[in-house]
Amino acid sequence: MVAGQEEICLEADLVLYNSKIYTANSDNSIVESVAIKDGSIIFVGSNEEIAPYKCNAEIMDLSDAFIYPGFIDSHVHLKATGYRELSLNLQGSRSLKEMLTSVQIYANSLPEGEWVVGRGWIEKKWPEARFPTKEELDLISSDKPILLERADGHAVIVNSYALSLANINSSTEDPHGGKINRDENGNPDGVLVDKASLLIENLIPKKSRKQERQAIEAGLEVNARMGWTQVHDAGSPLQDFEILKEIQAEDSLPIRIQLYVENTKDAQNFLNDGPYLDNQHWLTARGIKLVADGAIGSRGAVFFKKYEDYDTEGLLILKKEETMPTLIKALKKGIQIETHAIGDLGNKVVLDWYEEAFNEINNEERTIASPRWRIEHSQNIRPEDQIRFRDLEVIASMQPSHAIGDLHFAYKRLGYERLNNAYPWRNLLDLGVVIAGGSDAPVEIGDPRIEFKAAVSRKDLDGFYDKGWHLEQAVTREEALKMFTIWGSYAVFEEDIKGSIEVGKLADFTIFSKDIMKIPEEEIMSSEIVSTIVGGRVVYSK
Ligand SMILES: [Zn+2]
Repeated sequence: MVAGQEEICLEADLVLYNSKIYTANSDNSIVESVAIKDGSIIFVGSNEEIAPYKCNAEIMDLSDAFIYPGFIDSHVHLKATGYRELSLNLQGSRSLKEMLTSVQIYANSLPEGEWVVGRGWIEKKWPEARFPTKEELDLISSDKPILLERADGHAVIVNSYALSLANINSSTEDPHGGKINRDENGNPDGVLVDKASLLIENLIPKKSRKQERQAIEAGLEVNARMGWTQVHDAGSPLQDFEILKEIQAEDSLPIRIQLYVENTKDAQNFLNDGPYLDNQHWLTARGIKLVADGAIGSRGAVFFKKYEDYDTEGLLILKKEETMPTLIKALKKGIQIETHAIGDLGNKVVLDWYEEAFNEINNEERTIASPRWRIEHSQNIRPEDQIRFRDLEVIASMQPSHAIGDLHFAYKRLGYERLNNAYPWRNLLDLGVVIAGGSDAPVEIGDPRIEFKAAVSRKDLDGFYDKGWHLEQAVTREEALKMFTIWGSYAVFEEDIKGSIEVGKLADFTIFSKDIMKIPEEEIMSSEIVSTIVGGRVVYSK
C-alpha cells in the first residue's frame, strides 16, 4: 500500500480479491480484483488498487480460483431440467438393457394405472445402438401406459397399452408435423416422431401448478449449481413466467431468466401485450419461440435432400401462412423471435421468412430497428445461407454439446458432403455472425464445462472425432468464453449491462477451480465450479 492511502475507505459490499480474472472486455484484459456494490461492479483492477474498497466489504480471497463473467446458457428448458431432477431420468443409461431395467424398477414402484414417463434416453452410445421397441416395453407392463422420450425431445417410444389408450392403429393418419413409425404391415411400431407424440402426451394427466413450481425451482437450483448465472428458457407457457414472478417476489431467484414464450395461444396474448421487461434484469420475457423442424437423431430435421439411411427429408413443422402474421406483429411490437431450425432446408426457410418480414415492415413501423432475431441450433447451414445470417443480422444460437454427440452418427444420416455445413462455427464467426452458446438441457447435461470444451476441441469428452468431422471449425478459447458470456448477453439485448467484467455492469461471475483458458483440453472437465455469483450474491458455492 502506498503511504498516505491508509485512511481512504471506499464503500463496497463485496470484494473478490487476489485472483486471475478474465474480463472478456474488448481487450480481453486480465485483472486481479473486483469490487461490487448494490449488485453492480464498481471497480476492476489490481490487488493494490482495490485496497480502499476492502475496509468495510466482505472479502473473498480467491487465490486458488479463476473468475469469469457470469456464464449464460442461451438455450435451456428450465422446467424440464427440473423435472429431470424430480422424475425418471434415463440420461445416464449406458445400455438399452440398463435403461429397461430402470424403467422396470420405476414402473413397479408406481400404483395401478399410473403413467410411466421417463425422459432422456439416447441410443447413440449404447452397445445395442438402436431404439427400444414397443415389445420390450410391453414386457415391462401391459396395464400401465409407458412413454419414454428420447433426449432430443423429438421422438418417443410407447407401449401397446399407451397406443390403445390413444386409439392409434394401422388406419391412423400421421398428424401434420409428425410421423407414426410403422412396421412392414403398416402397424404402429411404438415410435412417434415430433407432433405425433402429442397423440399420447396429451393423455398424460396435467401436472398441478404446485408440481410445476417445484420443477421450476429444481431447474433454477441445478443451473446455479452448474455455474450458470442466466438462462434463456427456450419456449415455455406464460404460467411459468407467472410462477417465476412469484419466486422473484419472494426474492428467491438464484439466477437471471430470459423466457421465450411457447408458440401456443399464449404467444398470441403476448404479442398483444408486448415484452415484459424488468429494469433489474432478473426476469424478462421479450421473445417467442417457434419450432421449424425436428432433430437429426430422430430424422425430423428438414433437409433439401433425403437422409442417407432412411426414405425421408425430414419434416417442416411450421406453416408459412400461420407464421408470417406472428413475425409481422412481433416486429411491430418489438418482440424478438427465436426459431428452432436444424436441417439445411429448415434454416433456409426460416431465413426466407425472416427476410420477408424485415422487407415488409420498415424501420419506422418497428419498435426495435435491429430486432436481433435468432435461429436456435442452426446446425446445418449451406454456405450461401451462412452469409444471410450476417446480412440479416440473425444470431446463431448453438450448442457445442450437440456437435460432439452428432459426430458419432451424423455421417450415417447425412453423408460426408453435408458435414461440410455442419456446425460451421469458424465460418460464421469469420463472417461476423454472433454465436450465442447454450446447452439445450435437458437434451444435454447442461454443464458449462462440456459446452466450453466441445466448442474449443470439437471432439467428444473422450477426445474422439470421426473422419469428415471438421476440426478446423472449432473456436478459440477467447471466442468460446464470449459465446457463453458477452454474446449470450447480446442475444438478449443486454451486452451493455452484463456479459463482461467492467465497471457499471451487473456483478455476475462464474468462478472455476482451474484456468479453463490455459489448461490442456483434457483437464477442462476436472475444473470445478467454486462459486456462482449473481448480482453480487453468492448463489452457489462448493
Ligand atoms: Zn431446445
